[in-house]
Amino acid sequence: KLFNEIQDLRGNIRVYCRIRPFLPGEKEKKTLVERIGGNGELVVADRSKPGKEGNRLFKFNEVYGSDASQGEVYADTQPLIRSVLDGYNVCIFAYGQTGSGKTYTMTGPNGSTKENWGINYRALNDLFDISQRRKSSITYEIRVQMVEIYNEQSFVCLDLHTLGIMTHSQPNGLAVPDASMHPVEATSDVIRLMGIGFKNRAVGATALNERSSRSHSVVTVHVRGKDLKTGSALIGNLHLVDLAGSERVDRSEVTGDRLKEAQHINKSLSSLGDVIFSLAQKSPHVPYRNSKLTQVLQSSLGGQAKTLMFVQLNPDASSFSESLSTLKFAERVA
Ligand code: ADP
Ligand code: MG
Repeated sequence: KLFNEIQDLRGNIRVYCRIRPFLPGEKEKKTLVERIGGNGELVVADRSKPGKEGNRLFKFNEVYGSDASQGEVYADTQPLIRSVLDGYNVCIFAYGQTGSGKTYTMTGPNGSTKENWGINYRALNDLFDISQRRKSSITYEIRVQMVEIYNEQSFVCLDLHTLGIMTHSQPNGLAVPDASMHPVEATSDVIRLMGIGFKNRAVGATALNERSSRSHSVVTVHVRGKDLKTGSALIGNLHLVDLAGSERVDRSEVTGDRLKEAQHINKSLSSLGDVIFSLAQKSPHVPYRNSKLTQVLQSSLGGQAKTLMFVQLNPDASSFSESLSTLKFAERVA
């Protein structure tokens, strides 16, 4: 199951679908999910149509139903994370409408404990564990950074010099500036730093009316390993991305800032789709430069890099049309 061993035609692009459970208070609603088959099959149903008329079949590398735990989901992600220590570049992102569980999958619920940690913490924890175990032959240096992309601008959420005080705009920064990467040595460092990063982000969120669902959050992990015998170095990058909500905004109902935000989100998500699609097609031209998001992620998309997309779904049948558009986005690249 190791990604390194899979030389499939899709150039190391995988798509996992996750349907979150109904939350307390949502119980009486009808479910979107008709069936989850083996082999990554998912059948969703348009409940406004009679019988099986509204059924639609989609195929993924994996499908996780409402009962899947954070640990189960991580188990299928782990080989990818580990390959970063062998010098691979990896990008994992969560796509879906607001409320579909993107942040839950990537980070975990608010105030999460080890039990329900999302991929971010589990990944870093794993990287530290393995680097410890290899330390007699390879020494690793691990650094992290958090960046938020909002309206085609990137903001560094963690800055070494102004830690916890403010975010910095990087209007011309194509990638994350190296100087703002934070050395980390243990999971507790990461939890502390991410706490600060999320808080910085949350400050912006209140000011800008729940900005978090309308911005992309990128956790970047740089790994540099040095082989103690040969002296040779290896470098791996990991990008963990919680994307802005993919819901379509009714243009007739929003104006001004809200419309501008919606247009930027639309542009960056469709650019991301275009990049992954052209990678999957092995197209000679990959349009990285069409959005800030794809510029920032460029090093971990394409080439030898491995990409995993989580397609997140709300289980409620009443959001069928939004879920269908999420599934169609995924279908294009899966
Ligand atoms: P998004 O980031 O896509 O807007 P969230 O991750 O915030 O969505 O999820 C919306 C709500 O659903 C949150 O209260 C979250 O804790 C809950 N939730 C999402 N996925 C799960 C899950 N797999 N199990 C339990 N609760 C979940
Ligand atoms: Mg979220």
